[in-house]
Amino acid sequence: MMTQIYKRVALIGLGLIAGSMALAMRRAGLAAEITGYARSEKTRKVAAEIGLCDKVFDTAAEAVKDADLVVLCVPVGAMASVAAEIGPHLKKGATLTDVGSVKRAVIDAVSPHVPDGVHFIPAHPLAGTEKSGPTSGFAELFDDRWCLIVPVQGTDADAINRLRNLWIAMGAKVDEMEADHHDLVLAVTSHAPHLIAYTMVGVADDLARVTDTEVVNYSAAGFRDFTRIAASDPTMWRDVFLNNKDATLEILGRFTEELFALQRAIRTGDGDHLHDYFTRTRSIRRGIIEAGQDTDVADFGRIKG
Ligand code: NAP
Repeated sequence: MMTQIYKRVALIGLGLIAGSMALAMRRAGLAAEITGYARSEKTRKVAAEIGLCDKVFDTAAEAVKDADLVVLCVPVGAMASVAAEIGPHLKKGATLTDVGSVKRAVIDAVSPHVPDGVHFIPAHPLAGTEKSGPTSGFAELFDDRWCLIVPVQGTDADAINRLRNLWIAMGAKVDEMEADHHDLVLAVTSHAPHLIAYTMVGVADDLARVTDTEVVNYSAAGFRDFTRIAASDPTMWRDVFLNNKDATLEILGRFTEELFALQRAIRTGDGDHLHDYFTRTRSIRRGIIEAGQDTDVADFGRIKG
């Protein structure tokens, strides 16, 4: 059933997340009109050509005019300047939300630019790929994935419910979380793992002796899967680490301690320690599959037959 939730939705930043939101909203008829703006003329041109949204504007101010929902889909480090630009042009009663991967820093950056009568409701869909840009979106990105809504104190309950309904209608499961807790949880589940993948691929690349041939040709599951994560957008991830500094450093500190303990177990031949550790981690993978957050296909579906 097609149920319109917002009349006019403006997407600021036209990449993977905005493109996927536009397709997911169209799939279920959730918006009467979708407008958009991106920084570069090139992205705006591509977005207009593929019909990512109904109208692409040359300024963010024009794109948000009369919008009932404005979604900031730019890298975390660009949120403040974009909010400053659109603030004076937001309609009274409109909802302003974002999809940034970090929440405390985005709340601090955006809040000062939100005029009275506009509901600012931060959010973060836990769904993505290593692809970026206006052609990378797809309607199913949010299906069965979580979207965390991080309301600031005193936010209008009806406005929160409406945004919650939008994410559910786009296929997501919705939960609410406090900003600092969000940033710590994401440091464990996403930010630190990305940094570790970047590091591992960097280390292999440093071994120039093997990079040209062996590492690439004989790339086995472990390294190959790191390379997928390490292919993620450099701007987005630079901004994530610069804006979730404390939580990421806390988790990396713990990671380093564990790594040293495993390193010592290998050196001293402590097989029991290694075996116990790997048994514990294996059960975490099982939990993720049982929660429906990944499939149990062997080798990520690469092995055929
Ligand atoms: P993306 O594909 O790289 O798209 C980013 C868009 O933002 C581009 O259209 C870019 O325009 C625009 N932009 C960049 N700086 C800007 C500025 N200063 N002013 C106006 N527009 C600007 O990125 P994405 O993956 O959709 O990520 C968008 C947001 O979602 C980020 O905050 C990210 O943390 C969050 N997020 C990402 C994922 C993921 O896995 N990718 C998952 C969840 C949340 P140009 O092309 O013209 O530069």
